[in-house]
Amino acid sequence: MAERPLTLMAVHAHPDDEATSTGGVLARYAAEGVTTVLVTCTDGRCGDGPGGVKPGEEGHDPAAVVAMRQAELEASCATLNVTHLETLGYADSGMMGWPTNDLPGAFWTTPVSEAADRLAELIRRYQPDVIVTYDENGFYGHPDHIQAHRITMAAVEQTDVPAKVYWTTVPRTAFAEFGRIMKDLGVEWAEPDATEPQLGLPDDEITTWVDTSKYGAQKFGALATHASQTENIFFLQLGEERFTELMGVETFLRVRDRTGVPTPEDDLFAGLR
Ligand SMILES: [Zn+2]
Repeated sequence: MAERPLTLMAVHAHPDDEATSTGGVLARYAAEGVTTVLVTCTDGRCGDGPGGVKPGEEGHDPAAVVAMRQAELEASCATLNVTHLETLGYADSGMMGWPTNDLPGAFWTTPVSEAADRLAELIRRYQPDVIVTYDENGFYGHPDHIQAHRITMAAVEQTDVPAKVYWTTVPRTAFAEFGRIMKDLGVEWAEPDATEPQLGLPDDEITTWVDTSKYGAQKFGALATHASQTENIFFLQLGEERFTELMGVETFLRVRDRTGVPTPEDDLFAGLR
């Protein structure tokens, strides 16, 4: 056994992304004694403001949004027992095509090498065995998610530290299940546009299925700390039990591996302990 505890690093774009896509693994591995490091790249200034005011609406004060979302992020980390929170502090770029994409300090227009150097420094400091981030489309095309992917992959190349690297994904069958539950609940739910590139992966292409259902309360609790954001309120409407039923298994695509453990696997640390 190694002397130092195993370490998981999750690289996310905005305050709240850690809860939605990796809240389960962060809580589970912390409970198993793994050191967890969350890197949040942007300040979330393009999110909803206090009182639900939307970006672009009168009274949307980016400084107030940043302060509120930082406090929410810290509360989420406390809920998930995250060992170390690191924020890179880039300005949230907003959705693709928004004028905020090009503002000074926006994450999207920061050179990849510049941000990757900063992340590489954190990777050298924390020596994560496993790193989790998004796929090349940032899962759903948000510029900050795409940029988080790019800087992570560049920093991994530079440092050669993690034994395993994963991209978060969702099984296509889960989208169908989600639609069914939403209909059951009578919740307004926009079916994904069939002309859009399909999100997620076919089930048989997913390499890694991690059961985090025992940590559903923590994941739901972490999401609840970010209740200022409309899209989270949407998930919170499910209630803890149904949320856990639906989101209690987190799925990943393994894209880098030094362990040789066959896939599908059920543990991000398979082959490392
Ligand atoms: Zn995000």
